[in-house]
Amino acid sequence: MNAGPDTPISLTTPIGAIPGVKKDHAEKLARLGVPNVGHLLAHLPHRHEWVRAEAGIADLAADSIASVRGEVTATRMTGYGRKARFQAVLMDDTGRLDLVFFNQPYLRDKIKPGMRLRVQGKAARYGPGLQMTNPKFETLEIDAPEPGATEDDQLRPVYPVTEGITSDQAEAIVAKVLGTALGHIEDHLPEELRKNRTMPALRDAYRMMHAPDSEDEVDAARRRLAYDELLLFQLGVHMKRAHLRQTMKAPPLERTDAVEKSIRERIPFELTDAQRRVVREIAADLALDVPMNRLVQGDVGSGKTVVALDAMLRAIGHGHQASLMAPTEILAEQHYLSMSDMLAGSNVRIALLTGAMPAGEKASTLAGIADGTIDLVVGTHALISDRVAFRSLAVVVIDEQHRFGVEQRAKLRVKGSVGDAGAGEFDTPHVLVMTATPIPRTIGLTLFGDLDISTIDALPPGRLPVKTRTVTSDRRDEVYAWVRSKLEKGEQAYIVVPAIDSGASSGAAQPDTLRDLRTVHKELEDAELGGLRIAALHGRLKRDTREHVMARFRAGKIDALVATTVIEVGVDVPNATVIVIEHADRFGLAQLHQLRGRVGRGGKPGACVLIADPKTPDGSERIKVMCETTDGFSLAERDFEIRGPGDVFGTRQSGVPPFKVADPIRDSKLLELARRDAAAWIGLSPNLAGPGDALARRRLLRLHGPWLGLGDVG
Ligand code: ADP
Ligand code: MG
Repeated sequence: MNAGPDTPISLTTPIGAIPGVKKDHAEKLARLGVPNVGHLLAHLPHRHEWVRAEAGIADLAADSIASVRGEVTATRMTGYGRKARFQAVLMDDTGRLDLVFFNQPYLRDKIKPGMRLRVQGKAARYGPGLQMTNPKFETLEIDAPEPGATEDDQLRPVYPVTEGITSDQAEAIVAKVLGTALGHIEDHLPEELRKNRTMPALRDAYRMMHAPDSEDEVDAARRRLAYDELLLFQLGVHMKRAHLRQTMKAPPLERTDAVEKSIRERIPFELTDAQRRVVREIAADLALDVPMNRLVQGDVGSGKTVVALDAMLRAIGHGHQASLMAPTEILAEQHYLSMSDMLAGSNVRIALLTGAMPAGEKASTLAGIADGTIDLVVGTHALISDRVAFRSLAVVVIDEQHRFGVEQRAKLRVKGSVGDAGAGEFDTPHVLVMTATPIPRTIGLTLFGDLDISTIDALPPGRLPVKTRTVTSDRRDEVYAWVRSKLEKGEQAYIVVPAIDSGASSGAAQPDTLRDLRTVHKELEDAELGGLRIAALHGRLKRDTREHVMARFRAGKIDALVATTVIEVGVDVPNATVIVIEHADRFGLAQLHQLRGRVGRGGKPGACVLIADPKTPDGSERIKVMCETTDGFSLAERDFEIRGPGDVFGTRQSGVPPFKVADPIRDSKLLELARRDAAAWIGLSPNLAGPGDALARRRLLRLHGPWLGLGDVG
C-alpha cells in the first residue's frame, strides 16, 4: 500500500514519482494544481460515503453502496452502438442480482458464465428483482476464500471528480502515500492550544479526512481544518493590524472646544443617540496617533453622512485635509452638493474629483489638493489615481465600502504619506469606512476583521417604515394611477428599471418582455403620467446632464425620475416618497433594499411597489422577503443564507477570503473561537516571530498573504 521502504516519499515528491501512478494521472493532477504529495493531502474529499460490508444478495438494501460476490449464470448483449448494453446475472446462495453495463460492449469478452465476480455498486429494485447499473467488479479465483466475518462497513472518501480523475483513482493514489506522507506533517498549532480546543493533531486530521474510521472522525477532522483556515486568516488580520499600529503613525486630532464648536455649527440637526455614540467612538480614535481603521455600519437612511462629515471636520480643524470616496459619480456629486451646503459660509474649501471631469478642471483640483488650498475632496475612484497627491491627508472616508476592494482601501491609506513639507508629519491617515449593506456580525469579523466596528442602530426621528407591496405586471395601470395621485399632491417618485434599452440587456434577459428605460419613460410620458414632469437618469448620460437632472429633481422641478440602478446607493431626496421597481424579481435582495431606502427619508411615509412576475423560486423568495421585512440586518442575514457571502459581495474584488473547508456562516462559533485565539496569540507575539510561531506564520502568509496584502509585513 505504501510506496515501499526504499522509496523516499516526502511532501514535495511529485505525483509522477510515486511508484505505480500513471503518468497521465500525474499530469492531470498537476493541471488541477496538485503537483506533489503535500498538495495531494490538501486535496480533500468533499464528502464521505458508506460502503457496506460484503453481504448476501438477499441482504442488499436499495440505494446504499454494497459489495456482493457470486457466480455469473448468464450474459447477453442488447441494443446497438451507443445504446448497447451488456447484461449479466449474478447468483449466490441467497438470491439473484442483475448487472447492467451501458456502453461497454467489450465486457462481453471479459465476463463469461461460470465466472465468479465481486461487484460493488448501488442496488436498485426493479419489480421483484434487484439490479445494479455499471457496478465496479473484479473477477475472483474460483477457489477464493469466502468473505470472513471480520470485513466491516467502510467509510470511503469521495473526491471531487475533475478532468478525468475519478474519485476512485484519487483515492488509490492517496492510499499509496498516505501512511508515509502523514509522518512528514508538522503541526503549526501549539500543543497546549490544540489540546485546550480538543482538536486532533494536524496529521491525524488528514488521516481522518482521507481514511476515516467513523463519521465522528470526519467531523473532528473537518472541524480542525476549518479552524485552521479561520485561525490562520485571523492571525493574518491581527498581525497586519498590530504591524500598522506599531509602525505607522497617524496625526493625533485632539478634541478642542474650538473644533467641537465649529463642527456643531455645521450640522443642521440634532444627532440621534446612535449617531452621537458613533461620533464619540470615532473622535476617541482620532485623538490618538494610532491609525484609526473603523467601519461604520448603519441601515439605509440612518444618517452616516453627517458622521463622516464630523470626522473630516476634525482633520480640517487641525489644519489637515480630508477626503470622501464614493462608489458612483452620482453619489459623489450628491455628497459634494450636500456638504457644500452644510459648509456654506465656513472657511472650509471643498472640491469634487471624478474621472469624468474636464481635464482643465481636474488639473486645477489636483493642484489644490497638492498645495493644500483644498481642504476636503469628495470623489470617486479617481481619488486613488497616482496623480492625486495630498499635502496632508489626515482623514479618509470610504462610503459604501462593500463596493470597494481591500486593495483600494489600502491605496487610499497610502495617500496620507506624501510630503515631508508642511503639516504632513505622519505616515498614514485615519480611515473610516461606511456601509449600508449590513453585515452579519460573523461575516463582519471575517471580512473586516482588521476593522473596529461602530453601528448606527437607529434611524433619525420621524421616520416611518416604508410600506412595501408587490403587484403583478397586469396591474401596472393601477400602480401608475396611484403614483399619479401622489405626484399631483406634490410628492415625488422614482421609477426603476433594470436596463436602459433591452437590446443592451444581458443575454439572459428576454428582450421581448423586458420593459426598458426608454420604453417605460415614453409610455409614462404619453399615457399614465402624461402632463407631469418626467425625466430619465442613467449612467450613460453626460455628467452635466445628470447633475442638471438631479438638481432639478432635488429642487422639486421634476415629479418623477425614470432611472436605472444609478440611484441605488446613497441618493437622498427627502421629498421623494414613492419608488416603483419594474421587473423587481431581477434585482438582488440587497439591491432592492438599497433602492427602497431612497424613499421615506423626510417626514412623509414612503411606499415601495415591486412590479414582478417572478419566474424562479429565488425571485419569488426575494420579493416575499422584501414585503415581510424592512429591517436591513435581518434582510441581510436572509440574503447571506440564500446566496452566501461570495455572491452577496459580488466579485472577487469585494474580497471574501478564500476558504476551502470553513464556511463563516455555518462555522460562526468556530470563527469566534479562532478570532479570540488569534488575538491572544498576536498579543503575545505581535509579528509571529517567536520560535514556536514560524510554521503558523509561513502558512498564513502562503494562504492569506496576497488577500490580506501582507507583503509589507511578511
Ligand atoms: P445614509 O446612512 O443612508 O447615508 P444619510 O446620511 O444620507 O443616510 O441620511 C439620510 C437623511 O437623514 C438625510 O437627509 C440626512 O440629512 C438626514 N439625517 C441624518 N441624520 C439626521 C438627524 N439626526 N436628524 C434628522 N435628519 C437626519
Ligand atoms: Mg449614505
